Amino acid sequence: MQPLRGTKDILPTEIIYWQKIYEITKKILTTYNYHEVRTPIIESTELFLRSIGNFTDIINKEMYNFNDQRQRRITLRPEGTAGIARAVISNKLYLSNKISKLWYLGPMFRYERPQRGRQRQFHQLGIECIGSSTPMADIEVIRLAIRILQKLKFTNWVLEVNSIGNSREREKYINDLVMYLNKYYSDLDKDSQKRLIHNPLRILDSKNLKTQEILIDAPKLKNYLTLEALNHFNEICDQLCLLNIKYKINDNLVRGLDYYNDTAFEIKTKNNNQQNTICGGGRYDELIQQLGGPHIPSVGWAIGIERLITTIENTVEIEKKKVIIYIINLNIYKSDIIWKIVKIIEIYQLQFEIDLSNTNLNKQLKRANQIGSKLCFIIGNDEINNQYITIKWLETSTQQKISILHLQNYLKYLKNYLDT
Ligand code: ATP
Ligand code: MG
Repeated sequence: MQPLRGTKDILPTEIIYWQKIYEITKKILTTYNYHEVRTPIIESTELFLRSIGNFTDIINKEMYNFNDQRQRRITLRPEGTAGIARAVISNKLYLSNKISKLWYLGPMFRYERPQRGRQRQFHQLGIECIGSSTPMADIEVIRLAIRILQKLKFTNWVLEVNSIGNSREREKYINDLVMYLNKYYSDLDKDSQKRLIHNPLRILDSKNLKTQEILIDAPKLKNYLTLEALNHFNEICDQLCLLNIKYKINDNLVRGLDYYNDTAFEIKTKNNNQQNTICGGGRYDELIQQLGGPHIPSVGWAIGIERLITTIENTVEIEKKKVIIYIINLNIYKSDIIWKIVKIIEIYQLQFEIDLSNTNLNKQLKRANQIGSKLCFIIGNDEINNQYITIKWLETSTQQKISILHLQNYLKYLKNYLDT
């Protein structure tokens, strides 16, 4: 049997990257006092209908919806922010903390055409800074994304920023944009023609070369922004300069979700592949109120873990922990000596494996070599009867015999030896 289309197993050889990302993220975010949260993977369909926006790709064609046994409409979450906004409201987090700094890592689901960097079950790492409208909050989240990527030895990135104003400013702009694009209707790509009716802003994002060319002379969103929005954006650019974070203003950068306002940003790899956006984020000042909570201005981002791993695979160093002690067990009916040994190894936290194969010495030695163990503890009948261990160092084939009584001391020296 195969896994479902667009899903995949993450096996031990790959999981080391996931663990590394988790470890580094947790360390950096904890320093900045961000706290991990885990919200449910299933939410009511209505949550996403009310937040993401009716004419977005996600709502139109990508959601995994089903009815449960009581005919409740349920959705496998396509993204993380809506669930967090819901959790802020459900748990009234705003009462205890005026500002909540949260992060998450987990699976998301979108019914898309699977291809490189695009799956139906994928994972996002995301942060949300909830409760501040100052530009410094935007900068804090951007800086954190960059810090995490740098720590993962990912240097080949570009940060693109834009301001998309609020919904009123956008409405006026969209009118003018549609008027302009209508003149070139037949030259637009098929997707953009469709979007002209329901989601014209997304046309700015089109990868089609002809459409991009038409867009060069199109009205620009920044000319529709209020002074307040412009000031916010300028402040962000200034602080990015101050922090020496290289960025590019991209007038055509819009996000695929409707709840964003003002700041929008993406971090991309410079590689020219199709799915080159690693991180997407922005401000969402109205979302929590829109979902029935108080007005709580917020900003955040999400990184696609699978795309991130493809870009860091060859650069980040992962130390693979190896089995140090391989316990060769030649009499499976006498287990008490094995457990005595294990309890002592546990004290020193050395990685070990008990051979469970019930095979002969040669086969067990072969396996110990195969997995690269440093030494074997050989336990046969003589060892059991006289309470000692035959130790074999695999690299040199040196053998020693030590009494169980001296094992603790032996491991203490071994641990010191391995650490230096
Ligand atoms: P795209 O334009 O590539 O479809 P998006 O705008 O739909 O991206 P967001 O909703 O902003 O993506 O999600 C943030 C990040 O999550 C993306 O930049 C990407 O790294 C990752 N991501 C989104 N959809 C997928 C997917 N189907 N498979 C793998 N990663 C994804
Ligand atoms: Mg998408």
